Amino acid sequence: SKLNGDHIKLAIQKDGRLTEDTRNLLRTVGLHFESYKQRLFSICRNFPMDILYVRDDDIAEYVAEGIVDLGIVGRNLVVESEKPVEEILPLNYGHCSLKVAVPAESGITSIEQLSGCNVATSYPVTTSRFFAERDIDVNVITISGSVEITPALGVATAIVDLVSTGSSLRLNDLVAIDNVLDSQSTIIGNRTSLADKQKAIIIERLLTRFRGVMAASEYKYVMMNVPSASLEYISTIMPGLKSPTVLPTADADWMAVHTAIREDVFWDAIEELKKLGAQGILVSSIEKMFV
Ligand code: ATP
Ligand code: MG
Repeated sequence: SKLNGDHIKLAIQKDGRLTEDTRNLLRTVGLHFESYKQRLFSICRNFPMDILYVRDDDIAEYVAEGIVDLGIVGRNLVVESEKPVEEILPLNYGHCSLKVAVPAESGITSIEQLSGCNVATSYPVTTSRFFAERDIDVNVITISGSVEITPALGVATAIVDLVSTGSSLRLNDLVAIDNVLDSQSTIIGNRTSLADKQKAIIIERLLTRFRGVMAASEYKYVMMNVPSASLEYISTIMPGLKSPTVLPTADADWMAVHTAIREDVFWDAIEELKKLGAQGILVSSIEKMFV
């Protein structure tokens, strides 16, 4: 099989931290495609799109150059590449932060103390800009891997590196003293493709699906029984999508209430609901949501 000229092209990471979640997301939005190691690309069976598997460092460049129309990559690499691509939709996985870290025993607590020092990183563009914007003169040393061992080797006083749980910092007796940027996996697009009538239609169809999955992941579906007397109050503390669905139950004193509720207000709402006498509260995740 070969790439199809009428299809849009999406670049994803071939083999790394984002690969599994990205593949899962593509399947959740209903795309059928074969994928096994050693493959350079896949053709979707049920959508006019080809998927290219590449090193994550190359994705922003491929998108900027129009070799592919879309890419899924960590925002950290989009920022570092300085390529003119459109950041379309954050995908809520691959969360990490680029942080300034120093050896715990160094006594350094602020980035101002790094003036005149060596700072090792795999993100020289972002790092240089971060210190330049704060008028702190550092010597940025570009290292492609294992940045966290450079302070112990005497190569650098501080590092700027990606951190998710912080376990790698702890393992190397490093502590974070500042945050350079927050990142997550993001869909990026080529500006020419986004402006192309035919491609834009296919891209928009795809993005609608992604948005449906992203929106659903922010909401829970809640079903509960509510004393009929407190129904009025309950509607006001349920900041659902629209007004909740209210159904009679076999017992006239109780009503069944169904609604979608944002995950970030969910726990507070549940406490309030229980105070108002809600019972039999069932919560389920929503797979896809279109509003
Ligand atoms: P490739 O072989 O594709 O170049 P890589 O080794 O450069 O892969 P990975 O380590 O797989 O890259 O990381 C891919 C992305 O995962 C990072 O760019 C970042 O956006 C995200 N990520 C999330 N958590 C972390 C973390 N703790 N460390 C590094 N990257 C992380
Ligand atoms: Mg890489």
